[in-house]
Amino acid sequence: MSDGVAREAMEFDVVVVGAGPSGLAAAIRIKQLSPDVTVCVVEKGGEVGAHILSGAVIEPRALDELLPDWRDDAPPLTTKAATDAFFFLTKTRAIRLPTPPQMRNHGNYVGSLGNVARWLGKRAEALGVEIYPGFAASEFLEEGGRVVGVATGDMGVRRDGEPGPNFQRGMELRATYTLFAEGCRGSLTKRLIERFGLRDGRGPQTYGLGLKELWEIPKAGHKVGLIEHTMGWPGDRQTYAGSFLYHWGENFVSYGFVVGLDYTNPWLSPFEEAQRLKTHPHVRKHFEGGRRIAYGARALVEGGFQAIPKLTFPGGCLVGDTAGFLNVPKIKGTHAAMKSGMLAAEAVAEALAGARPAEPASYEDRFRASWLCEELRGARNIRPGFARFGMWGGFVHAAIDTVLLRGKAPWTLSHPHADHEGMRTAAAATPIDYPKPDGKLTFDRNASVFVSNTNHEEDQPSHLRLRDPARAIAINWDQFRSPETRYCPAGVYEIVGADAGAPRLQINAQNCVHCKTCDIKDPTQNIDWVTPEGGGGPNYPGGM
Ligand SMILES: Cc1cc2nc3c(=O)[nH]c(=O)nc-3n(C[C@H](O)[C@H](O)[C@H](O)COP(=O)(O)OP(=O)(O)OC[C@H]3O[C@@H](n4cnc5c(N)ncnc54)[C@H](O)[C@@H]3O)c2cc1C
Ligand code: SF4
Repeated sequence: MSDGVAREAMEFDVVVVGAGPSGLAAAIRIKQLSPDVTVCVVEKGGEVGAHILSGAVIEPRALDELLPDWRDDAPPLTTKAATDAFFFLTKTRAIRLPTPPQMRNHGNYVGSLGNVARWLGKRAEALGVEIYPGFAASEFLEEGGRVVGVATGDMGVRRDGEPGPNFQRGMELRATYTLFAEGCRGSLTKRLIERFGLRDGRGPQTYGLGLKELWEIPKAGHKVGLIEHTMGWPGDRQTYAGSFLYHWGENFVSYGFVVGLDYTNPWLSPFEEAQRLKTHPHVRKHFEGGRRIAYGARALVEGGFQAIPKLTFPGGCLVGDTAGFLNVPKIKGTHAAMKSGMLAAEAVAEALAGARPAEPASYEDRFRASWLCEELRGARNIRPGFARFGMWGGFVHAAIDTVLLRGKAPWTLSHPHADHEGMRTAAAATPIDYPKPDGKLTFDRNASVFVSNTNHEEDQPSHLRLRDPARAIAINWDQFRSPETRYCPAGVYEIVGADAGAPRLQINAQNCVHCKTCDIKDPTQNIDWVTPEGGGGPNYPGGM
């Protein structure tokens, strides 16, 4: 909607979409290399870090390269990784297994990625980067087959699409090069991939959904630097899932559960799996006497090396999770996101200083020559191994691939299919009976969304669009009993009227925590997540 008002435009050398670790590392690197280049970063969260959700155990390799003095300047990471432990859970027992090599964290730090992003934002601004939080890039601008920037969404549009009393036209942010750093399943990236065929000849991207809670616990039970991972109960043997528990700071515990979105049982509820996992005797002891202070959820990329798309297109490139840079067996993407941002920045700085070619094409070569490429190539077979051989077969395959072959297997396993494919019908799968929450250790979705501080202006068009509204009942309900009502970690999707024989899908878009799962997992790809009005969404506090 435009109301006939032309958009104002601002010109930069470089525009970066997304103030996460990849976008901010890119912005900082460009200014380090070319101080006179103008760089603008646009961020949909109300402040830098508001939409960032991560474990997080962070490998400092890229940060050391980008800002070697980071430990001297009020560092955002102070808890050093101390103890690693890896458990296989049965319903009542926890069996300690050797920690897989990729999950050993000596030299890494535990903390909050949101805090890291806030700190990086300040460093970027000190170098002259202009950061605009509270503005969502809602479309990319294309002229003559080349991306020439982005436009931020109009503000103050009413639910019926008409301008409201506070209507404000979006801005055009025009640039020679635009870097898309939107994180996992970026909404503009999705369109760019389609428009420029960036996935041609590449395997499908696959994803996981991560749910996270931040707890404050009594100091007596706090073991600073403890890093625990579990697999097994309550999951079945075909579903790739596991939990993390990180003790950090004075008395924080970050708890999270990640499930591969290639799961096939439409009755599965990742949210409720995460809740019941906390009731396991080995896990619940971490929360004794504690208080949950925050909750959030976010998808993460799991496709690995073989799912990375073409990285450049005329006028720009993709960096970080939106391009698929995450090391799945390590469950770490921050160092990869930052390094990819830095490599893209080096290519862009070189292009700006030279003949300004349409594509900053040396980014792809720089990636192929980097430690990041070597690392991701070495880890490429582990996740598809679990998809192909199930949990135990996946473990055996991972051990052979890592310990015997050291990531140099002469084969590359492909992902069997995209995550939205392969879901069984509701009738063909076994329903799962989840226990009721107790409000102390386990919670319902509403109470959880409350502590994510999620807020959207209610009188705006829904940012969750159904390509064909009829399919919500004709396919999703009739065949799968509406799996979106279970996989959405924020209770956005509800079926009403089923008791009266007239089921209808109700979308409570204001609760959306921007995890992107519905955009990924809907069986017919009927749900399209587009950016809501800037500033809307979760407001994760420092610590998440
Ligand atoms: C539960 C969970 C646990 C994890 N644990 C770890 C861990 O322990 N260690 C680790 O290293 N990694 C971990 N990761 C992965 C890590 O969080 C990501 O790899 C990392 O955040 C990727 O950085 P990024 O900059 O690419 O994207 P993000 O951090 O997702 O940042 C993207 C930013 O872009 C903004 N944005 C998106 N679209 C737009 C738009 N159109 N307009 C404006 N702004 C936009 C977003 O609001 C966000 O601020 C975990 C991830 C999850 C979900
Ligand atoms: S509506 Fe979609 S993007 Fe929003 S929280 Fe639910 S699954 Fe995630």
